Amino acid sequence: MIRPLILVSNDDGISSEGIRVLEEAVSSLGDVYVVAPDQERSAASHALTIHKPLRITQKDARHFALNGTPTDCINFALYVILPRKPDLIVSGINHGSNLADDVTYSGTVSAAFEGSILGTPSIAFSLQVPEEPQKTAHFDTALIYARKIAQSHLSSPLEFSVLLSVNIPDLPPEDVRGIRVTRLGKRLINETNIIRKEDPRGRPYYWIGMGPKDYEPDESSDLHAIDHGFVSVTPLHLDLTHYPSLSRLRKWEEGPASVKAGSKPE
Ligand code: MN
Repeated sequence: MIRPLILVSNDDGISSEGIRVLEEAVSSLGDVYVVAPDQERSAASHALTIHKPLRITQKDARHFALNGTPTDCINFALYVILPRKPDLIVSGINHGSNLADDVTYSGTVSAAFEGSILGTPSIAFSLQVPEEPQKTAHFDTALIYARKIAQSHLSSPLEFSVLLSVNIPDLPPEDVRGIRVTRLGKRLINETNIIRKEDPRGRPYYWIGMGPKDYEPDESSDLHAIDHGFVSVTPLHLDLTHYPSLSRLRKWEEGPASVKAGSKPE
């Protein structure tokens, strides 16, 4: 039997701890290739590099670094590097959760979006990390759940247009309360997170800070699940169409008959 081909990528860079753990998590499930950015590209979102040349650095038979974004990496893996189409793409394990609106900024989740667009079942994994920088993150917990969920997905794959965003709470394995299937939550945006400081010469500079902690109460949300010690699994898809608005906007439609004479540029 042919072993599944699994592609591992991320947005924290090929040298990050999270991608090493993810590779370890899926190594028993198939033949694994790693194609990842050569440096951290967090919050790269779904960017594709079109204004500079890209170069692949091959580290060994199955590890490749690219001087591009997570989305570039998925394209290069599928069309330049891999011997055949992969059976599964896993992205992460991101250093930090990707909950609610975060998924639109996240390079980790965008790599999975790209995999899904290109026709491969994909999963993004993100680990909630402690706020205190001296504390270590629970990659041991993330490894267990990444392996479990990747295995479930390989044995009964969803349609490739649906990707999974998995978040793991900042807890040791024995304290995790279980797995919950969730929807994206909504944070309460009530103040700016742009922080103004002054440099030694008295000129202002700015940092974009952390997002708000409070969120809309909703027991079905990813934010609630992580806050209550569960692993959160959110199915996502890239059809951003708001279907209820289609019928409401129909009255804006115009046919060729209603175009006024002379309104077309000659
Ligand atoms: Mn990241």
